[in-house]
Amino acid sequence: MSSKLRSILRKIDGRGYKAYKQIEGRYHFPDYQLIIDHAQADPFAPPSAVRVKVPQEKARFPSELSETKPKKTALEDYLTRRFYQTTRTFSKRCGTGNSGLVTILKPSQQVLERSSMEISGDGVEARFWIGLPARGRRILGREAMHIFDNVLPKIVENSLIYRNLEPEKVKTHVEVVEDTEYIRQHLRKSGLVAFVANGAVLPRRSGVDERPLQNAVRFQSPPSLEVCFECPNRAIKGMGIPEGVTLIVGGGYHGKTTLLNALALGVYNHIPGDGREFVVTVSDAVKIRAEDGRYVANVDISSFISNLPDGRDTAHFSTENASGSTSQAANIVEALEMGCRLLLIDEDTSATNLMIRDRRMQELVTKDKEPITPLIDLIPSLKRKGVSIVMVMGGLGEYFDVADTVIMMDAYRPQDVTDRAREIARKHGIRPKATPQEIKIRDRVPDLKSIDPEWRGKVRIKARGISGITFGKRTIDLGRVEQLVETAQLTAIGELIYLISKSRRSRCLREMLDEVEEKMEREGLTSLLPPRGCYAKPRKFEIAAAMNRLRGSLWR
Ligand code: ADP
Ligand code: MG
Repeated sequence: MSSKLRSILRKIDGRGYKAYKQIEGRYHFPDYQLIIDHAQADPFAPPSAVRVKVPQEKARFPSELSETKPKKTALEDYLTRRFYQTTRTFSKRCGTGNSGLVTILKPSQQVLERSSMEISGDGVEARFWIGLPARGRRILGREAMHIFDNVLPKIVENSLIYRNLEPEKVKTHVEVVEDTEYIRQHLRKSGLVAFVANGAVLPRRSGVDERPLQNAVRFQSPPSLEVCFECPNRAIKGMGIPEGVTLIVGGGYHGKTTLLNALALGVYNHIPGDGREFVVTVSDAVKIRAEDGRYVANVDISSFISNLPDGRDTAHFSTENASGSTSQAANIVEALEMGCRLLLIDEDTSATNLMIRDRRMQELVTKDKEPITPLIDLIPSLKRKGVSIVMVMGGLGEYFDVADTVIMMDAYRPQDVTDRAREIARKHGIRPKATPQEIKIRDRVPDLKSIDPEWRGKVRIKARGISGITFGKRTIDLGRVEQLVETAQLTAIGELIYLISKSRRSRCLREMLDEVEEKMEREGLTSLLPPRGCYAKPRKFEIAAAMNRLRGSLWR
């Protein structure tokens, strides 16, 4: 170990915890550089921020493993996972609070760009945390030395040096992501919005366990919808979901929601072995649901809802407490405002009155007495805008009239029943065409002063798992925003909202977020964020979702 670090640790052994501040700095080890960026102030505080840089001469990653952006992200993802596992093997608690623990961001089943690992021509840099050891508030210098002398070198050796990894596994990881990304880039050119590979495993082990369900029925495309992608590393066959309106029908418990949820997360790449690694959805897909109780600020939902009995203006609709239908309408409009071109909707979590009014109800409650224009009547307008929909439908057969593709899930096996559904629609008489109405989408501009993360004079931004963000004195509820997968995404979202709030002038949210996204793509995720945080890349749709749900935020 570096003699400098050793002598400081000797000197401060047994002293008060604050003396750990003295080890902040840069140290040379045989295979790497260690940088202690920030020493925690006490054993119960968040652990100390540390980096390790392994130069390429030592790390020796073959350059073809990171020659494109998707491959680089995949390799970094692999190394984060490997580092995470080795910390669990080699680091042990050894005193008060977090003493002795070496930790790194915990990755989900998805492959994301994260702050935890960065590969470049110079080598690899890992960013992680160490709980500096103490008994009570006294420094345990010997234990600290053990971490730097034994534990950390083992972790680095086993996770950041290429020759100690399993080359086949690394290669598979990178190639799977490369192929998934290839499919995503080629979906639209093939007239598709999603793809589900034959052999995919869609169900999860449980609501709190994202690993694949064991002994699940593997996905098998119906012949009529089968397509094949010639990816860089393999050819993959599976079901292509065409642009337009697609219904997923079938009896209860036959796997409809499972398929839709897999499509919702198909905007992300998955790790090999997840079962969903070749379930791919276009990147501008947004899962839509009813979300009663949510905050809505100045959204034009008048295409769906107008003439409310209390005379409220729905072109500028705001509420602290949205109903099922108004929340779902706002969710659709806000997604389209951000450029969403695929809506994913599950009847289970939808407001029925927003989905449809059937003919009997139309006859009894005539249009002039009903403030809601159901989604089914806005489908022609959505199609004109190039927006596709994939919808799970258990009970609303009137959608047969507007569907381009109908997939029936039968004991987890999809069947193409488009022709039969058409025939049935014809037999019952096609739904009378609603008066052609364009769906209205307005660009909204946030009032930056109303976005304030301060609390008692300090900026306070903290992710609460994947279900919310503490933002100043408010909490942003994201519990029903379904396309978030990692806490680190929420941390990034909180910081990005803060960044936006500091812009010199406000522009419409779409422009501001396109700019943020472009910058993250060009300069890397961490370029926009404060150092030493734990970040994973969010999509602009979820950043917008968080801003839109910030209570008290004002928009014009
Ligand atoms: P639906 O929405 O049609 O009512 P779900 O998608 O909720 O059905 O699935 C019902 C149950 O079946 C869930 O517990 C799910 O985990 C399980 N399941 C879904 N797909 C499969 C599959 N391919 N193999 C085995 N079990 C599955
Ligand atoms: Mg369901």
